[in-house]
Amino acid sequence: MAPLTPMMQQYVKTKEQYKDCILFYRLGDFYEMFFDDALTASKELEITLTGKDCGQEERAPMCGVPYHAVDSYLTKLVSKGYKVAICEQMEDPKLAKGLVKREVVRIVTPGTNVSMQALDETKNNYLMCIVYMDDCFGISAADLSTGDYYMTEVDSDKKLMDEITKFSPAEIIHNDAFCMSGVDLNDLKERMNISISPLESWYVDEDQCRQCLKRHFKVSVLDGLGLTDYPTGTLAAGALLQYLYETQKSTLTHLTHITTYNSGQYMIIDSSTRRNLELLETLREKQKRGSLLWVLDRTKTAMGARLLRTWIEQPFIDKKPIEQRLDAIEEINGALIDRDEIREYLNPIYDLERLIGKISCKTANPRDLIAFKSSLAMIGPIKILLKKYKSERMEKIYQQMDELKDIYHLIDISINDDPPIALKDGGIIKDGFNEDIDRYRHAKTEGKQWLSKLETEEREKTGIKNLRVKYNKVFGYYLEVTNSYKSLVPDTWTRKQTLTNAERYITPKLKELEDTILGAEDKLFSLEYDLFSMVRDKIEEQVSRIQTTAKALANLDVLCSLAIVAERNNYVRPSINTKGVINIKGGRHPVVEKMSAGEMFIENDTYLDNQAQRISIITGPNMAGKSTYMRQSALIVLMAQMGSFVPAQSANIGIVDRIFTRVGASDDLASGQSTFMVEMTEVANILRNATKNSLLILDEIGRGTSTFDGLSIAWAVVEYISNPKFLGAKTLFATHYHELTELEGKLSNVNNYCIAVKEQGDDIIFLRKIIRGGADKSYGIQVAKLAGVPQPVIDRAKELVEELVSADITERVKEIKTAPEKREPEAKTDFSIFPAEEYDGQMSLFDEPAQKIIPSAANIP
Ligand code: ADP
Repeated sequence: MAPLTPMMQQYVKTKEQYKDCILFYRLGDFYEMFFDDALTASKELEITLTGKDCGQEERAPMCGVPYHAVDSYLTKLVSKGYKVAICEQMEDPKLAKGLVKREVVRIVTPGTNVSMQALDETKNNYLMCIVYMDDCFGISAADLSTGDYYMTEVDSDKKLMDEITKFSPAEIIHNDAFCMSGVDLNDLKERMNISISPLESWYVDEDQCRQCLKRHFKVSVLDGLGLTDYPTGTLAAGALLQYLYETQKSTLTHLTHITTYNSGQYMIIDSSTRRNLELLETLREKQKRGSLLWVLDRTKTAMGARLLRTWIEQPFIDKKPIEQRLDAIEEINGALIDRDEIREYLNPIYDLERLIGKISCKTANPRDLIAFKSSLAMIGPIKILLKKYKSERMEKIYQQMDELKDIYHLIDISINDDPPIALKDGGIIKDGFNEDIDRYRHAKTEGKQWLSKLETEEREKTGIKNLRVKYNKVFGYYLEVTNSYKSLVPDTWTRKQTLTNAERYITPKLKELEDTILGAEDKLFSLEYDLFSMVRDKIEEQVSRIQTTAKALANLDVLCSLAIVAERNNYVRPSINTKGVINIKGGRHPVVEKMSAGEMFIENDTYLDNQAQRISIITGPNMAGKSTYMRQSALIVLMAQMGSFVPAQSANIGIVDRIFTRVGASDDLASGQSTFMVEMTEVANILRNATKNSLLILDEIGRGTSTFDGLSIAWAVVEYISNPKFLGAKTLFATHYHELTELEGKLSNVNNYCIAVKEQGDDIIFLRKIIRGGADKSYGIQVAKLAGVPQPVIDRAKELVEELVSADITERVKEIKTAPEKREPEAKTDFSIFPAEEYDGQMSLFDEPAQKIIPSAANIP
């Protein structure tokens, strides 16, 4: 076979080093792809497939994208899970001798794409590294666009899944052993749309990882970074960092610190609860509108929007930080005019975190710097307003916020206020910043004047009256003297050319002007680029200060957002206790109350404790409002623990360690399991992982099987939960099995509630009020009628009900005795987060006397 052309040889050699990537190979104004890459890319990008002579008989398949539009093509490929290696020309083709030198300068992967075009500014874009070793998962996640960098360890695949859902990374890299851990990689790929690839073993070599971390953070021992307690996590963090170096080939200065955390620091919200409570998006449409985030998000900056998500996903289980946020919100709402003014200053602030990310990755353009400057200008006024705040949190924000005057000044004196995006076409640097720049610019625009000035000066000096400065391509600028004046030409002039009636000369001064004029543009553009890079590098040196300020701004933004939401929606500050009492008066569902435009939202109370009111069995017809009520209780607890005010008249919230929810499984049908199997798997998970400090929301357990099985399972579940020796978690349990109301009285901590309805002839009216007691009817036929089921069906159903009543199982259920409570515990209970004595005590330990909430019948119209 004939050898490939030299250029194609270069291509093939480069491609060999980046086998798993699509290689974008720079050829002039295009990035070209060849062979298999071309076949793939032309299909995925819908661009024309052509061919190129490569020295062999058959032409090489080829396709290409123009360099100036590369971002959108890149993003398209990367979002489909491909990795793209960008291979640039490393020298000017005009000046290159022989083949132009080319090198891969960057690899773009789903988790490392920093193109603003590709990223949702309200979400982080995480790359996650998982190292599985000795039954432990080391986890590290980094957002290259902002510099956020985290590390932790967990000991079960369940907890790992919680972390994965929390970060929802765009890409996961992992060691080989991870494939043996039992985690379903296909599920991650298909359902969660995460790009997943294994790492070569050297990435997770302990020495390599430690060295890389030490080099990056410029430390001689790792202890100071807080990594000591996380050996597997350290491997994950190290491997991730090495992967970033390999792909980015830049200094990564904006990864200034690594945040280690223990997943036990936060309330655990597993992935199905996250979905069921519709924290960030709705269950069905997967959209923000209708989620808790939608209600709480009045942030003004992208940084704030991202931080708010984290707050919602990671409520605290420690009282102190919760109170700190609540104090801050209260203080902010103490001065509404100032709050609104702060928000106005926050409004024009750009995404400083991503800007500094771009600056570090050297992809920031001049307009980015101007955006940076205009954002910095807002910090001064904000700080003036912040000065008077006294709460701990606000004071800290004040202290962390740096006006960055030096950086502002640097950009202000150097970069034009309305610069182009392009880096190599000039127009970037301000007049007066650099003498050479000014000279080159003058040379460009005022060159003509200089020449005519020189002409006049020389004419006067020499007396050559018709002396002219002229130009041609061969000699450049010259002085032309007609033969009659030849004798007046000074010795210092150099003759260049003799014509019949004239002589042409040059002088050192003219040569200098010529150089200045002709070289001015080239020099100007390249010097502008150099100076711009210098300014960018100078900003990069201050990355740490900028990140701290950006985080402070984000915190302020989120607190202001929570404050304004609290004020506009009539939320109250919750009291926080560590004694396990949840006492909500007049609670509302934060989302439903906003969505139901016409219907007035009816407030309801919730009371749960670790004693006589541990489990509420909630009955009532479909559509009565059971699930709304249960979700609102869970959301109020979650909001309180994230440090937000809550939609209620008053709320005293006993900190819970986890919230579990089990509600309808329809959306899991796609996964191929039967509804009942999914339901039972979730129940199993809850019963195994909940602790007595958890809050459980269980909706219609046992619905997916026959009545007897279902009722029996539901019954047994309530018994299990109610027994502190097994579980003893606070629980709201909605059921359509009225028989379960028999448990009140049989189990000491179970109480019946129902949602009131009023009968009106054949119809029912939903009162939406929760009251003590069990519902005795399910009103299924009335609800079916409301839903528009044809009258003949309704009538026939009524007849059947009459007949079936005799087969009612209720009577028999009354005779059932509950299971003996004295069994050896087998489920583990986690007491670790609260001091044990707070739970062992009796009623006297409550910070307020436990009282039963029995809304009086008078409340019901
Ligand atoms: P269930 O779970 O009992 O079938 P839902 O909780 O789904 O009932 O409630 C049905 C509808 O009733 C909800 O879509 C909501 O619009 C409305 N609703 C529920 N609770 C209230 C309330 N407290 N105030 C006003 N409307 C409510």
